[in-house]
Amino acid sequence: MSELYGGVETGGTWCVCALATGPEDIREYEQFRTAAPEETLMRIIAFFRSHPGASAIGIGSFGPVDADLASPTWGHVTTTPKPGWQGTALAPVVRDALRVPVAFDTDVAAAALGEYRWGAGRGLGSLCYLTVGTGIGAGLVVAGEPVRGLVHPEVGHIRIPKLDSFAGVCPTHGDCWEGIASGPALAERWGRSPDELADEHPAWPLEAEYLALGILSIVLVASPERVIVGGGVMERPGLLARVGEKLRALNAGYLDTPMLGERVQDYLVAPELGDRAGVLGAIALAERTAGAAAPGAAAG
Ligand code: ZN
Repeated sequence: MSELYGGVETGGTWCVCALATGPEDIREYEQFRTAAPEETLMRIIAFFRSHPGASAIGIGSFGPVDADLASPTWGHVTTTPKPGWQGTALAPVVRDALRVPVAFDTDVAAAALGEYRWGAGRGLGSLCYLTVGTGIGAGLVVAGEPVRGLVHPEVGHIRIPKLDSFAGVCPTHGDCWEGIASGPALAERWGRSPDELADEHPAWPLEAEYLALGILSIVLVASPERVIVGGGVMERPGLLARVGEKLRALNAGYLDTPMLGERVQDYLVAPELGDRAGVLGAIALAERTAGAAAPGAAAG
């Protein structure tokens, strides 16, 4: 298969564009800071005008977004706290400027799909892709499809039990999961950037427990076959293993599976596509829109 697809990941900080057939064949790649909507859209469109040939383009965007094809505001970023971006018509503008089919979902749904298609979720029926960085977000893929319903999951904003008195940093909810366990929450709670917190700092066992509490909720509700955890905060050596141990302890043998017991390190894993999961997931979205891949046709 050599069909070319376009992928766009609009993140809170970075925007990534790629032209590729898959992870082994990325022909063009560009990353730039996510600026105001007009400027960002101009750069996305300029990228695909300079590098034509995509038979479809997938866009994975920070949210919340409207990904409902039947909605008049399909392809818009909706109630985001990101200044200037509320109500931005992202996907329709790209589609109309470039005259190609455009697929649209959240950045985390795209990343989940990328890992499902080419990464740590190959061959599985369901997975959760979780990112812990500037925010907390998760994409769920079930039976080969990103989970969508009333809107789309916004897992970062669930409530979990609080283990300290920190008020939280979520502009909407204060002490939701993202509000107490994202990178900015760590920075605010401890008064310095997470990078500057030593491995033995008490921040890390607390962070591991907060992450495990949220992940346990996801596991209990959606029962994904694997949880893939990425994002800047997870670059801390040993943190993922620590979260696994906490998850195992919190489950306390209730869900009777080795994946939440002695094999927890096979259950809670790092993304295989690394920081390209989002843009490759957008490529996977495009591929599906173009109808080139049968659902579940992930390479073994
Ligand atoms: Zn929140």
